[in-house]
Amino acid sequence: MGKSSKDKRDAYYRLAKEEGWRARSAYKLLQIDEEFNLFEGVTRVVDLCAAPGSWSQVLSRVLIKGETFGRAGWEQKQEATHRHVLGLTKEEGKEESSAAPAVQPPKPRENVRIVAIDLQPMSPLEGVTTMRADITHPSTIPLMLKALDPETYNPDSPSSSSPVDLVISDGAPDVTGLHDLDIYVQSQLLWAALNLALCVLKPGGKFVAKIFRGKDVDLLFAQLKIVFKRVRVAKPRSSRASSIEAFVVCEDFCPPEGFKASLDKPLGAGTQLPTDAAAVRGEKQVERKVRADGAIELDFGTDDEEEDDLEEGGQRWIAPFLACGDLSAYDSDATYKLPKDRVSLDPVQPPTAPPYRRALEMRKMAGGAYGKTKGRVVKETA
Ligand code: SAM
Repeated sequence: MGKSSKDKRDAYYRLAKEEGWRARSAYKLLQIDEEFNLFEGVTRVVDLCAAPGSWSQVLSRVLIKGETFGRAGWEQKQEATHRHVLGLTKEEGKEESSAAPAVQPPKPRENVRIVAIDLQPMSPLEGVTTMRADITHPSTIPLMLKALDPETYNPDSPSSSSPVDLVISDGAPDVTGLHDLDIYVQSQLLWAALNLALCVLKPGGKFVAKIFRGKDVDLLFAQLKIVFKRVRVAKPRSSRASSIEAFVVCEDFCPPEGFKASLDKPLGAGTQLPTDAAAVRGEKQVERKVRADGAIELDFGTDDEEEDDLEEGGQRWIAPFLACGDLSAYDSDATYKLPKDRVSLDPVQPPTAPPYRRALEMRKMAGGAYGKTKGRVVKETA
């Protein structure tokens, strides 16, 4: 086994096709759940930036079909599939299976509601309402609320809609390779996701979102601590170590009394930041007031001298960082030896409207080598 960060088709890419996931990202959510028990008691979820839909698949299989993917489920799946991924012989696979834990019977949940939103169209999934919309646009809020409660939604009283337990967002822009620009655009998606979450989360709810770890990411964590009691950063084993991607896991949503989220006055740039580390850690009482204009104001009870120190001294709150996914799980930066007779599987769900389609059409019109490249391009993006 050698290391190569250039090998885009890692063990998770192959495993995803083998286990029927639309994308390898499914393992990121599963491994975050393994560490944070994300789906405990969850029945209503919004999945933002959801296409092609592997996170929605996870939601559908866990909440609707009642499948288990905890450590036990994961070990079992691995045992069943690593013969293909790692090239073990049948006998070797069998030896390990004797130590595998017993399969949990599926426990479907009641009154499940899953809404998935993306700019791109998404193929249907059992029990998932899919919507094509831009999460940065205010018009997406009423569409999302209606999708959550189609029978009872009242446009004149949107706040009467039932809240959700969990909002997840795997949003990513088309990366340009210009790091600062990519981080900035990604952070805008994150703020959009957070502001949508603020509109629908119930107190005690959870929010999980992809982040790019740029130099000012601490400020973002401090902002999240305004409205969530626990904020941690997760790096699943299936997310390459070489990538700046990580996931912020926010638990126990606790909006200040009277706080009404709106995309007209979104939380984000301009919100007063908590500069007092003790307050951010919850070791000190912070009074949170909602101003008449809807903005949140924080009173740290610090005297002027103390405040000066904070500005100069740069007290910073560092969010706990957790690597998640069992150590025995595949390493996404490693290259594994494959058996000679291994057959490459087709993508589980070919992209419905890939952004590169137009480029291929243009190339075809210009008499380019469309026929030759089509298969290769489609496979690479699956
Ligand atoms: N979680 C998905 C899965 O498991 O299949 C993968 C998500 S993919 C990494 C990122 C997605 O973000 C893309 O499908 C893209 O269309 C979507 N996206 C980017 N900007 C968006 C926006 N403004 N509104 C909605 N979706 C957006």
